[in-house]
Amino acid sequence: MKQHIYADNAATTQLNRDAFEAMVPWLLDDYGNTSQPYAFARKPKKALSEAREIIAECIKALPDEIYFTSGGTESDNWAIKGSAFADPDKRATITSAFEHHALLHSCEAIERLGYPVAYLMPTADGIITVETLSGMILNTTRRVSVMYANNEIGTIQPIKELCNVAHSHGALFHTDAVQAVGRVGIDVKELGVDMLSASAHKFNGPKGIGFLYIRKGMKILPYADGGAQERRYRAGTENIASIVGMAAALKENCDKLKNNIAHIKTLELRLLKELRETNISFVRNGGENTLPGLISLSFSGADGEAILHRMDLMGISISTGSACNSVDTEISHVLKAIQLEEKLAKGTIRISLGKNNTEDEVDCIAGALKKILR
Ligand code: PLP
Repeated sequence: MKQHIYADNAATTQLNRDAFEAMVPWLLDDYGNTSQPYAFARKPKKALSEAREIIAECIKALPDEIYFTSGGTESDNWAIKGSAFADPDKRATITSAFEHHALLHSCEAIERLGYPVAYLMPTADGIITVETLSGMILNTTRRVSVMYANNEIGTIQPIKELCNVAHSHGALFHTDAVQAVGRVGIDVKELGVDMLSASAHKFNGPKGIGFLYIRKGMKILPYADGGAQERRYRAGTENIASIVGMAAALKENCDKLKNNIAHIKTLELRLLKELRETNISFVRNGGENTLPGLISLSFSGADGEAILHRMDLMGISISTGSACNSVDTEISHVLKAIQLEEKLAKGTIRISLGKNNTEDEVDCIAGALKKILR
């Protein structure tokens, strides 16, 4: 069989085997509905509350501050729309220009309903600075939302400091931490955030499940009306198997976080060293403080799409820095926001290494890039 190297862990990750095994009984045997009063519902009900405790512990929240959702997109939609619609004064939102579309399109949706939104521009290194936010925020601003780490270039944002600025103006703070949870340490109390979005498939959990952390006491409207699940804030029969799988995956990744980060950083340095040893010139985007393993590289004058397809033919899955449509290739909103020169932006790829990658795989990736770019 042709070898396959998966180096697109920012897109999704491989399910942890233990997480998968933890899910099986809830699909096949203990499939009761937690809303029922009989004994058969007791085990899933207990599993639900244990999963909530595990997840809360991993991000230093209280169990009652964890609300299960279908993933990052839903968490972002809920954070923006739920907090906006709870504000009859329609006060303004501030976000950044290079958020994930789940966040940006949620902001566009509230804008259409008359809630003003302003967009912060990052530096060339991909940072939303405290000064930029301080220059824009007013005492009438209702909420600020800045992602924990950018999904294309990996830059980690100064969330605690940005959150302090928001709070000092009486605004709420949300962070889309979909790329960060389970990959770097997260402590919601230390950060001070009011809401935080996460998605299981980015931390070796199953797809279609995630959570929104909502600080106790925060005013937000329910995401879905119906039954009494999620303390009446998100109705619908719980996806117990996926919730249990998510908790198991997050716990495993958090327990092994130090080792995982060290391993991924070693791979990252190895890849960059091997590339630097060639005479191929490239720019690494995202500045100094990036998510472990998320490597955005621009090759001046090259075609990122073509590199992706050549790598694919060699059995290596990576991503580009551009969103393509069937007619032409557009430069992504992230690369536009950091004002990357067009000839670099078009030649941008994203390699995202994960805990399951190996040194041999990194050598193959470097070798393939050398072959293609020469
Ligand atoms: N936010 C960020 C930063 C992401 O990277 C993603 C997924 O790529 C999402 C939100 C959406 O998450 P999900 O795929 O769970 O809906």
